[in-house]
Amino acid sequence: MLVIMKNDATQEQIQTVIQYIESLGYRGIPMPGAQRTAICIIGNQGPVEDSHILSLPGVKETLRVTKPYKLVSRETHPQPSVIKIGEVTIGSDEPVIIAGPCAVESEEQALKTALLVRNYGVKIFRGGAYKLRTSPYSFQGLGKQGLKILDKVRQETGLLIITEATDHENLGIVEQYADIIQIGARNMQNYSLLRRAGQSNKPILLKRGFAATIEELLMSAEYIMSEGNHQIILCERGIRTFSDNTRNTLDLSAIPSIKELSHLPVIVDPSHAAGKREYVIPLARGALAVGADGLMVEVHCDPANALSDGRQSLYPEQFHKLMLEISRFYPIRCN
Ligand code: PEP
Ligand code: MN
Repeated sequence: MLVIMKNDATQEQIQTVIQYIESLGYRGIPMPGAQRTAICIIGNQGPVEDSHILSLPGVKETLRVTKPYKLVSRETHPQPSVIKIGEVTIGSDEPVIIAGPCAVESEEQALKTALLVRNYGVKIFRGGAYKLRTSPYSFQGLGKQGLKILDKVRQETGLLIITEATDHENLGIVEQYADIIQIGARNMQNYSLLRRAGQSNKPILLKRGFAATIEELLMSAEYIMSEGNHQIILCERGIRTFSDNTRNTLDLSAIPSIKELSHLPVIVDPSHAAGKREYVIPLARGALAVGADGLMVEVHCDPANALSDGRQSLYPEQFHKLMLEISRFYPIRCN
């Protein structure tokens, strides 16, 4: 249930409502909006008796939330959420472009790629230090050394850093080095990891599992938000279908669907969907055309020698072309 406060409700009145909700054994989470504050009641198994709530000062009305996810639902928060990290805003008119290699392989590779993408206007650099690979014999990432390289990239380039936490154990250290913590497709339903991410004060990029429905993705985001972290960005990265011409099938319809159901920003990763670099740019165009709040693109300074996902990584000059094209239609700056 949602308790809608009057426009002029005071902080004290909001606190009184929350305390009453807690006295019933539930939790009341304030959701400040542009027009009004709503308090979302979570933890109740059945309907909440609202007659006393309606009599409290400052309360306008109560609304039933019909979806199983509450905090991430549009019903709870009708305005889109905008996430601010330094000078970057995610969920605004300006699409956010995240770029970098699949994995951090060496200081030279990471810095070289970072300087290239920064020159083309990118503000957030991606690169995995901990990699979840299908084969145990594939390159698993540099671990802590990779995080230190990312730290150096941040210092030398001023770029923000996104990198993946692959389990409950490494989230703590990833949190110290990352500006945004990525949770990968394979971990979308790793609930202990999601809860731990919910206790972090860093924004979380949550990728859709390759066999997950939109509702399951939103339920996973709810795990994070129910622990107190409201800074969540969703990412569509392709799902598994019978179609095998691409690595995954990019579900572009997920973007308007998520926008209808949730207030969270959603970006698209065309690289892991495509699996081949020649499809990345067309899919990126489609993603922005259907309303994605940004893109996460794999770019490598030397794709032919990449230790992971070289086949889908753009050459720097291809990425430059993509950035130039995007800057013709959207308010991003590209050199
Ligand atoms: C990645 O972005 O590095 C990655 C492994 O992607 P996904 O979790 O979508 O497979
Ligand atoms: Mn990759």
